[in-house]
Amino acid sequence: MSYRAWFQCINEKCSETYPLNTVIYRCKSCDSLLEVRHDMQALAHRSAKAWMKLFEDRYKSTQWPYGSGIWGKKEWVLPQIHDDNIVSLYEGGTNLFWAERFGKLIGVDNLWLKLCGNSHSGSFKDLGMTVLVSQVKQMISEGAPIQAVACASTGDTSAALATYCAAAGIQSIVLLPKGKISIAQLVQPIANGALVLSLDTDFDGCMRVVQEITKDETIYLANSMNSLRIEGQKTVGIEIVQQFDWEVPDVIIIPGGNLGNVSALGSGLLMMRDLGLISRLPRIVVAQAERANPLYRSYQKNFASFEPIQAQKTLASAIQIGNPVSIEKAIRTIRQFNGIVMDATEQELADAAALGDTTGMFNCPHTGVALAALRKLLKSGTIDRSEHVVVISTAHGLKFTDFKVQYHEGKMDFPCQYANKPIELPPTVDAVKEALQHALKKRSSKNG
Ligand SMILES: *Cc1c(COP(=O)(O)O)cnc(C)c1O
Ligand SMILES: [Zn+2]
Repeated sequence: MSYRAWFQCINEKCSETYPLNTVIYRCKSCDSLLEVRHDMQALAHRSAKAWMKLFEDRYKSTQWPYGSGIWGKKEWVLPQIHDDNIVSLYEGGTNLFWAERFGKLIGVDNLWLKLCGNSHSGSFKDLGMTVLVSQVKQMISEGAPIQAVACASTGDTSAALATYCAAAGIQSIVLLPKGKISIAQLVQPIANGALVLSLDTDFDGCMRVVQEITKDETIYLANSMNSLRIEGQKTVGIEIVQQFDWEVPDVIIIPGGNLGNVSALGSGLLMMRDLGLISRLPRIVVAQAERANPLYRSYQKNFASFEPIQAQKTLASAIQIGNPVSIEKAIRTIRQFNGIVMDATEQELADAAALGDTTGMFNCPHTGVALAALRKLLKSGTIDRSEHVVVISTAHGLKFTDFKVQYHEGKMDFPCQYANKPIELPPTVDAVKEALQHALKKRSSKNG
C-alpha cells in the first residue's frame, strides 16, 4: 500500500493543496495556515487492530528508526520520507506516571502526568522537530537550495531545532528575545552550533522578523506555523492512548502559548477516531498564564472575536505569547473536543508547580499552569474526582532552575507558601541535632 500526505489550506472555502517538499508556510491563494492531510482511504485499508499491533511491535524497539515514538507511526506522520533522511534522536516514548499523592492532595484519584520534557532537548518540541528537520534533509537531498533553518523561540523550539540540525549537519539560526529565556535554554543552541541572534524584543517581535527573513527560500522556517512540526507533535495523544492500552482518558490538560501543540494533540486523536482505533474523544483543556491569555479572553466571549494582546512577563516564559499563530486551529480543536480554556496567575502556577514537586514531580512553570488549571476545575466541580485526567508536562524542570530557586528563596512578589529554604548552620553535631529536632517536629505537624 502506498500512503500519501500533502499540505492543505485550513480554510474550507479554499482547501488549496501543495506537495510536502514545497517551501511554503501559508496558503498562496488566501494566506491561511496549512495543515498536513493524509490519504485516509489508503490508511483505512489496514484495520484498526492491525495499526495498533504495528505501533505496539515497534514501540521503543531497537529497529531504527521505528523505535522512536514518532517514526514508529511513520505512515501516519510522513509516509513519503526515505529512512535515510530521517533525523531521529529516539524521541517520544516518554513516561506517563500515576501522580497518586498529588492527585489525592488536590482531589482527583486517577491523575496521570505525561512527561514530554524527558526528552533529548528537554521539551516536547523534539517531537515536531524530528519531522521538520527530516523533511528538510530530504528536500536538500532532492536539490532544494536550503542553506539554513531558522526559528523564533521562547527557548525550547530553538533548543530542539539546534540539536536536530546539529545531528543532521544542517545550519540552524535562532532568534531569541533578549533576557527572556532561561540560561539553560540559551546555552542549548549555543552548544549545538546554532547562529544565535539575541533581539531586544519579545517572542512576538522575533516571530515578525523570522517570517521576513524566511521569505527567501534559502532559509527554511521551523516555527509551528510550519505544519510539519504538528505532524510529529500529534503523536503525543496517540501515544498516551496507546500507553493506556488504547483506552481514552476523560480529560487531557495542556499548557498553550502559540497554540500549535493543542492543535496537534487534537489532530492525532481525531486521526485515531477516524481510523477506528478509538470510539470517543477526551475533553481537552488549554491552560494559559493570566499574563499571556489571549485564547482565554476569546473563550470567555465564546470565540465571537479574537484580539491579540501584548503578553506580560510571566514565569511561564515559554508561553509568554500574545499573538498565537495557530489561533484558528486551536479554536477549531477546542470546539471539536468540548474544550475548556483556563488561566492561572503567577502565584497559582508557582504554588501548583511547587506543591507537585513535594509529591515527587519536578515541574516546569508551564506544567505548573496546567496543574493550577486542574486545581481550579476540581474546585468548581467542572472535573469530577473520579475522572481519568492526564496533564501534559511540556518541559523538564531542570531547564527552569531560576524559577525554582527564586520560589524557594521566597523572592517572588507573592507569598511562596511551599518555599523550602536550606537551613544554614555551623558545622557541629549539636547544632545539626538541634536544628533537626526542631525542623522534623514542624514538618510532621504540617504533613499530618
Ligand atoms: C512551546 C512550549 C509550550 C507551548 O506550546 P505551543 O504549541 O506554543 O502552544 C508550552 N510549554 C513549553 C515548555 C514549551 O516549550
Ligand atoms: Zn487557502
